[in-house]
Amino acid sequence: MYKKSSSLSAFQTNLRAIKRDTDVSNYVIDLNATNFDVVFKETPASFVIVKFYAHWCPACRNYKPQYEKVARLFNGADAVHPGILLMTRVDCANKINTKLCNKFSIPYYPMLLWAPPAKFIGSRWNGKKENSEFTPIDDGRTAERLLKWINTQLGSSYRFEDAKFENDKLFHSNASDSEQIARAIYDVEEATNVAFDIILEHEMIKFDTRVIFLNFLQLMVAHHPSRRCRKGSADILVNFDDLYPSNMLSLDKDELTNSTGLGALHTFQICGKQLPRGYWMFCRGSKNDTRGFSCGLWVLLHSISVRVDDGESQLAFTTTCDFIHKFFICEECSQHFYDMCSSVSTPINTTRDFVLWLWSAHNRVNKRLMKTESSLGTGDPKFPKVIWPPQQLCPSCYNNSGNLTNNSKIKWDYSEVYNFLIGHYGNMLVSRYKDKDTKVASQTDLKGNTGSEDLVASINNALVVPVGAAMAIAVASCLFGALAYVWRLGANSSKNISGRGEVGAEILSFVHGYMI
Ligand SMILES: Cc1cc2nc3c(=O)[nH]c(=O)nc-3n(C[C@H](O)[C@H](O)[C@H](O)COP(=O)(O)OP(=O)(O)OC[C@H]3O[C@@H](n4cnc5c(N)ncnc54)[C@H](O)[C@@H]3O)c2cc1C
Repeated sequence: MYKKSSSLSAFQTNLRAIKRDTDVSNYVIDLNATNFDVVFKETPASFVIVKFYAHWCPACRNYKPQYEKVARLFNGADAVHPGILLMTRVDCANKINTKLCNKFSIPYYPMLLWAPPAKFIGSRWNGKKENSEFTPIDDGRTAERLLKWINTQLGSSYRFEDAKFENDKLFHSNASDSEQIARAIYDVEEATNVAFDIILEHEMIKFDTRVIFLNFLQLMVAHHPSRRCRKGSADILVNFDDLYPSNMLSLDKDELTNSTGLGALHTFQICGKQLPRGYWMFCRGSKNDTRGFSCGLWVLLHSISVRVDDGESQLAFTTTCDFIHKFFICEECSQHFYDMCSSVSTPINTTRDFVLWLWSAHNRVNKRLMKTESSLGTGDPKFPKVIWPPQQLCPSCYNNSGNLTNNSKIKWDYSEVYNFLIGHYGNMLVSRYKDKDTKVASQTDLKGNTGSEDLVASINNALVVPVGAAMAIAVASCLFGALAYVWRLGANSSKNISGRGEVGAEILSFVHGYMI
């Protein structure tokens, strides 16, 4: 886990091998008996087509360019519509695949089989259409017919002429439905990976920022919605002194660049070997330079906020503020966000306080950018900024939905907003895969309780626990709350972003003051 493996997983190797060049033969993912299950476990795609063929079969050779033409739309980092459908093939004439092909009762070559990826894992198909979760594609003889069949199946209207950043309404409308937010888990992982890479690339961990970095790692260990990011964060936390030796903290950027012995942290993949994927799904813009990372970072922060417990909320708030201030490399963004943090004069005592504060801070940014982007034309035309959630996404969040005009102030029902955010960023946004390296099979619950087993497992596997036994125990027990308690004791005697005083009502008035 600590070094980039030279033999990347089959999934990553295959996907990265896909290049858009003159050779039309390299979009389809080659599967065999060894990588078949692995690829299907890892893919973010909702559906898969497996083409069973034989390399000696002349009809299969003729069909290859047709199949590749469709795969170009869906496969790989350069795909026009990534993460929706994975197009694969298995050469049944290759001896190692004989058993695999037999499991799917292949009656002829080439034969196309459609199903959600999970259905293919460890499964067999008896060749019957009735009561089967597999659908043989009976009308895909040309690229045009195959795409038509796919469109019928998905209710989509994909065309070969689609350009890379021309998103279709079905999957990318800003009024996110539950299907879309479920897909955001992949962007949260991608954003975590990108944030981590930026921090290391820009050598941002110094004596004065080290604690902030470690605090945010603790927050992620306890409450990141992705299990593999929690595990990676825990691994870094308990091995930090080895991965990033303290002598590196004092080197300046030039010295670090010239230094031959960069710490192992630089090659660590915080969310596992499958990342980065190199593309965005929920956060995909309609232009090359819009949305992406900053959208993923917001979703990460919101999804953490709904998972913290009441007793942790103040520390989670401070940790988030400090992290964005020191590690979000957009200067205007980090300064503006920190100003909003600093203007909070009442303690954040509950999850609700924290969730609603972050929501209102995000809306404040939205409101500011609505003006800037429309005057400068710098926004994403397909995703204009809105005060969020819009009415169609959460009608009950609005007390005055019936009589809203452009200039009227929204009367929020804060309880409904809170419930909506808990659902949207909580139960709908969870790891959808089963990580074979992780011992816990259960999904994260709303409060992010992973069970401590996977964290304990990572500690047991750790070589050393240099950050200190206390921290390791806290990590193992998922005790961000315990750290929050210690912090709160300390906060009584020291000055922090937030003072102490009455809660609830004042936070709400602060939130309310932000809203139009
Ligand atoms: C901490 C932070 C501060 C930033 N500050 C600035 C800044 O000062 N200036 C600047 O130009 N850019 C700033 N950005 C970037 C900017 O906010 C957007 O992320 C970027 O313009 C991309 O916008 P987007 O359309 O993808 O939606 P984003 O604003 O990134 O939102 C992502 C998704 O979150 C959901 N969402 C939207 N609003 C809310 C809300 N109120 N509560 C919960 N969920 C919501 C929606 O589903 C949306 O699609 C900041 C980003 C971050 C993470």
